[in-house]
Amino acid sequence: MKKIKVFVAGASGKMGQEVIRSILKQEDLLLAGASATRSQEMDVGFVVGVPRVGVDISGPLDTKILRVSGADVLVDFTNPQAVLKNAKTAIMAGVIPVIGTTGLDAEEIEEIRALVVKRHVGAFIAPNFAIGAILMMLFSREAAKYFPNVDIIELHHDQKLDAPSGTAIKTAEVMSEVREPMVQGHSNEYEKIPGARGADIGGIHIHSVRLPGLIAHQEVLFGGVGQSLTIRHDSFSRESFMPGVMLAIRKATELTDLVIGLENFLIK
Ligand code: NAP
Repeated sequence: MKKIKVFVAGASGKMGQEVIRSILKQEDLLLAGASATRSQEMDVGFVVGVPRVGVDISGPLDTKILRVSGADVLVDFTNPQAVLKNAKTAIMAGVIPVIGTTGLDAEEIEEIRALVVKRHVGAFIAPNFAIGAILMMLFSREAAKYFPNVDIIELHHDQKLDAPSGTAIKTAEVMSEVREPMVQGHSNEYEKIPGARGADIGGIHIHSVRLPGLIAHQEVLFGGVGQSLTIRHDSFSRESFMPGVMLAIRKATELTDLVIGLENFLIK
């Protein structure tokens, strides 16, 4: 069996470590390389808490490191500052980026799309790799047809850099596909403290909570006359993202364009 060779950027991070442990358990995947800003030249096994793997952590990505590794796919769980450069480096090296890092803006995503078209290399971005979170988005899209008044509360650990979360933005976007932009709440309402009503996407308000102890959670609250509906998803550990990441690695090798969202790989 030809194994898919995977390079992991952000290897020493919380998600990167989990991804590496998961790749090492898969028979059809091979860890081709790993990068981080710290722990360089250390064996990956030492960094992720497993026996020696025989792959050293390299410094920040460049095309040479990627080409030498022979990787087919780059999995990126770094930070909003590094991810665009990593994705472009991968595409230039003919390696398919599977991007989990959140915080890419629309312009940056278009930059990736343009490079994908130019270089004929696929790319994949998922704001959330947890299957339950994908279902939360699909169910919310359905509910928004009947309950156009909706707020999102997303809750994450206090080390998260970007707000609102990529999942919350994506949830608002998919609900916006089935409801007209509208002003929610009183037409004369005002904020006594700026930001009190949260971020606003087409009239859908997003509230971001950051607290230690949390991982990744989201509530989508719908209000109707005399009733409400709440759809909630909780990731209690980072393992919740791993089946989605492994699925994306396998499916990404078939891609020839930019695909956004794990829902594209689920049963139709
Ligand atoms: P984290 O623990 O801070 O890890 C980030 C890692 O990136 C660290 O290992 C850091 O290395 C490394 N890094 C930074 N710049 C780099 C570069 N230029 N090249 C290579 N590595 C670099 O963060 P995390 O909790 O793992 O989250 C990472 C990202 O994934 C965040 O954007 C988060 O929002 C996102 N996320 C997405 C999902 C999803 O389902 N899509 C789920 C969870 C998290 P040093 O520590 O050595 O500096």
